[in-house]
Amino acid sequence: MMSKSGSCGSCAFFDEHSAAAAAGHEGLCRFNPPVSQPTAEAHGLWPVVTEKDWCGHFAPETTAGAVAAE
Ligand code: SF4
Repeated sequence: MMSKSGSCGSCAFFDEHSAAAAAGHEGLCRFNPPVSQPTAEAHGLWPVVTEKDWCGHFAPETTAGAVAAE
């Protein structure tokens, strides 16, 4: 099992989106583009995750910050 330090809450791709956060300690995962666009007029959806979720794409915030600065 992954440690808490490797969870979404400390991942570079975790976005504390206000609407999602209003529903609890949740945010959006920005690793991939939006998915599952239901219709042509609808917005794509970002996966909603909690701070304690995790996945194999976890990246420490410091690592991604260094990449973004290039
Ligand atoms: S789902 Fe994976 S990539 Fe997305 S915020 Fe969580 S650990 Fe990071």
